[in-house]
Amino acid sequence: MSFEAIRDQEVPVRLLRTMIQRERIPNGLLFWGPSGVGKRLAAQELAKAVNCAERKDSACDVCLSCRKMDHGNHPDVKTLAPMKKSRVIPVETVEDVNELATLHPHESPWRVFIFQEADRMNLAAQNHFLKTLEEPPGQSLFILVTEFPRVLLPTIRSRCQLIRFGSLRAETIVSLLREQRGAPEETARAVAAVAQGQMSRALDLLESEKREVMLSVAGQIGEGKSPNALAEDFMKRLEDLKKQVASQVKARLQDEGGAEELTPDDRKQAEEREEAMVDALLRQEVLEHLYILETWYRDVLVYAATGDANRVFNQDQMARLEAQPSAGNAERRIEAVERARDHLNRFINEERVFRDLFFTLAER
Ligand SMILES: [Zn+2]
Repeated sequence: MSFEAIRDQEVPVRLLRTMIQRERIPNGLLFWGPSGVGKRLAAQELAKAVNCAERKDSACDVCLSCRKMDHGNHPDVKTLAPMKKSRVIPVETVEDVNELATLHPHESPWRVFIFQEADRMNLAAQNHFLKTLEEPPGQSLFILVTEFPRVLLPTIRSRCQLIRFGSLRAETIVSLLREQRGAPEETARAVAAVAQGQMSRALDLLESEKREVMLSVAGQIGEGKSPNALAEDFMKRLEDLKKQVASQVKARLQDEGGAEELTPDDRKQAEEREEAMVDALLRQEVLEHLYILETWYRDVLVYAATGDANRVFNQDQMARLEAQPSAGNAERRIEAVERARDHLNRFINEERVFRDLFFTLAER
């Protein structure tokens, strides 16, 4: 594999090739963009290319260095990823990196460090890493890979060259879902359309229940089920989601460690941070549920107007879509979903938002 293996990322790949050609490789690079679009693969390929014996703008895949990379045992390339259940990159890991970075590479032009999910460095780790990034040893290349660049300290971001990765084409996602997950063509098409170019989102839609849940809510509203009952079911689901999210966040923060050394002020700050993280993740989940509902009413509207199945997102739901007598109130329903999103973003109580929404959706 070389850069050719990276799909749909023409701009970042061109930038990387140019850097190698001109031999102007910065010490710090920050690869950012949606998850599952090829950032990690690009980091691997860059590490391979800068150390390739052929010294071209992409790895040759044949030389000893390239083969070592492909076997994951190149002595000058180190990949760091979040560890343990909490999935943090702890300060100890960064201390090792700092020490290693001061040494000459064993056998290659560059010593490369790839930080997967770099945003998982806790604050102490980020501060330690910053020192190295401020005065980087000449032959060290740090590639930070993240979906959330803003979680990193601004001082880290400003010392890296930012390389932005974009979304994937729907066709690419369809083929990946089929190859990697064995998804049926019809489902893969629907999920790819709804996922809007994000592979991670596509995988979540394929593997979580949320799409099924929300399409079923739309169906039950159509069949005249009481909006009150629907709202109650949905609130139960939200409670479960909240518990899941809270335990994920707690596990992550626990391993950031150092709790016994915290001053009361620090402790308060830590609690607030935990609460903020739970809220943010939960809101993301809730908004995704709303989005799925919106795609359904959008499909009702589009299909009623055009009769063209190719323009529908949820293409695996054609039977249900065809059973719809007409666009009905789809436009008004989309507006109701948009209003609900707006209310959630303004921190209006979720229960109230969804109760109002389901009542509006149920109106004939
Ligand atoms: Zn090579």
